This record gives sequence, structure tokens and C-alpha cells, in this order.
Amino acid sequence: MSNVAVCVRIRPLSEKEAQYGSMVPCIRRSDQESFTFKDDKEEESVFTFDRVFYEDSIQADVFEFVAKPIVKDAMNAINGTILAYGQTGAGKTHTMEGPNMQNLDDSSSKGILPRVAQCIFEFIQAADETSEFLIKLSMVEIYMEKIRDLLDATKNNLQVKENRAKGIFIAGVTEVGLANRAVGATQMNAESSRSHCVFLFTIQQTNSEDRSMKTGKVYLVDLAGSEKVERTGAEGKLLSEAKMINKSLSALGNVINALTSETGSHVPYRDSKLTRILQESLGGNSRTTLLCCCSPSSLHVSETLSTLRFGSRAK
Ligand code: ADP
Ligand code: MG
Repeated sequence: MSNVAVCVRIRPLSEKEAQYGSMVPCIRRSDQESFTFKDDKEEESVFTFDRVFYEDSIQADVFEFVAKPIVKDAMNAINGTILAYGQTGAGKTHTMEGPNMQNLDDSSSKGILPRVAQCIFEFIQAADETSEFLIKLSMVEIYMEKIRDLLDATKNNLQVKENRAKGIFIAGVTEVGLANRAVGATQMNAESSRSHCVFLFTIQQTNSEDRSMKTGKVYLVDLAGSEKVERTGAEGKLLSEAKMINKSLSALGNVINALTSETGSHVPYRDSKLTRILQESLGGNSRTTLLCCCSPSSLHVSETLSTLRFGSRAK
């Protein structure tokens, strides 16, 4: 059995989409695992995933199913990764962070990231007294294959390194100790839809009796928008951004496909910064959930179909 789960989240219609009142939604619900998708040629196909979250799903349900088991494993030194994939506007940031990272008091709408932080503290409180915990959080952005520290803007070209003690790590990345409320403070780049945003929780646990140590990592990744940029319209910066995003998303797809294929093929982690960073938290003794975010509107059928295909290939 593979350690990769694929889930789909379909957001509610936006006001703008709803104004196209006559159109029919392109997704028809069957059950918690499958739905029928109707493409722009009216052809229907059934898609099945580990779980489908429909328009009426709430943030707490997504967290419980997608993230809580990963956090639980990370407390036992099993690394995990959650990746939000989809076109810009499909709901990746809403799902991963929530609508307002500056105001986390709005508890029902907060996304996976602040819930993970909270959940880690709940697990710590429930852990036995011989365990001492150190929780750290790092946040980086990968833009045009450059790694930028979101907690320290002066660090704008961090390198991925590897050594025996630490495994694979981002050299010099800022790590902050995690206090319950510290997560609200991030500054996202205005162009965040053109970059991958990577959050890393490191959970270090020391046994106070024999001083043995174990570490688990949870990566939360808000991927760059997967939409195709029109070949004709785009030029210059936009085109090179688009090519780079395309390349790194394909690299991610290739790594996941290699991990889930039964032939034990070579896993091409080194093809992108993202897969390189995630190497020890994808595959092997780790758990990965790919969360494909979609709009329900027939205005976006072709992008949605491409997202669903990316998800299907990852299974
Ligand atoms: P992305 O990060 O994929 O570009 P966003 O998360 O920014 O997309 O979502 C686009 C818009 O849709 C935002 O205004 C967001 O608040 C809204 N939205 C996304 N998902 C949901 C949801 N599940 N419920 C309500 N609104 C949502
Ligand atoms: Mg976003």
C-alpha cells in the first residue's frame, strides 16, 4: 500500500461564478469518495479519491481527515506532508491557512496551518511526563527555484543541504519556537500564487530519563497555481514564471508517481527545489496527502479536469 493519499476539495461557487446563473455545475456528487465530472463536451467521467470534500465541507472536517493523522504520526517521528494543488482561486490558501492569518480568533474558518499548531499543543499536553518537547516553525517561499525565508526577508536565496546528522535541510533558514499564537504573524508575498509556500513544523521530543531523542516533521505546502498560461499572451517574466511553475509541478507529479508505482522506479527528487526539500517527507517512512482544490464552476472545466487528472495519476 502506498503512503500517498489523494483528496479533493471543491469550494463553493464564488459570487462572480454564481452570476453565470444558467450554467450547470460540472461536478455531481455521488458519495464521500466519488463524483461524476462533466467536461465542456458534455462527456461524463467518474472520479474516485480517498476522500472528497464538497462545497458544504467545513475547515474542521478537512483538518480532522487530512491533517490530524499526519500530526499524530509526526509525534512518533514519522514525517508527513500535505500539498494543496490547484489553479489560482481554487481554494488552496483558504484550505491551508484560512481566510485571515492575521486574525486567528475566528476559529471556525481557520485553515490547516493554525489547526496543526493547536493540535501539536494538545498532543503535548496529553503526552506522558517523561517527554520534553521543542516545536519549531519555518516558512519559506520557492519562487523561480529560489528559496526565500518568509520570516527573514534578507535571506532570499537559501540552499538545500544534506548531512548525516540532520538529513536534508534548508541551511540557515529561520526557525521560531512556536507559541500558541505566534502563527498569525507571517508576511506573504503579494505574488504568492506564482510561488510555492512551504511551512515546516519540527517536533523534537526528548525522553527526560534516557535523553533519547526523536524528531518528526510536518510540511504544509501551498503550491503555486497550476493553471496553464496562454502561450500566445504570455511573454517575458510571466512566461518564464509559468514555465518554472510548470516544471516544478511536473517534477512533483513525477516524484509522487514514482513513489506510488509498483515497479520501484527511480524517484527523481533532485529535479526541483521543492521535491528536494520534501525528499525525507515524501515516500519512505512518511505520509503524504495531496489535496486537489477545485472550483465547481463550469467556467473552469478544463483547469479542473487537469487538476483531477493530476490527482488521479498520484494514486
Ligand atoms: P488559491 O489559494 O487556490 O488561489 P484561495 O484560497 O485564495 O485560492 O480562494 C479563492 C477565493 O475563494 C477566496 O476568496 C477564498 O476566500 C474563497 N474560498 C476558497 N475556498 C473556500 C471555501 N471552502 N469556503 C468559502 N470560501 C472559499
Ligand atoms: Mg493562494
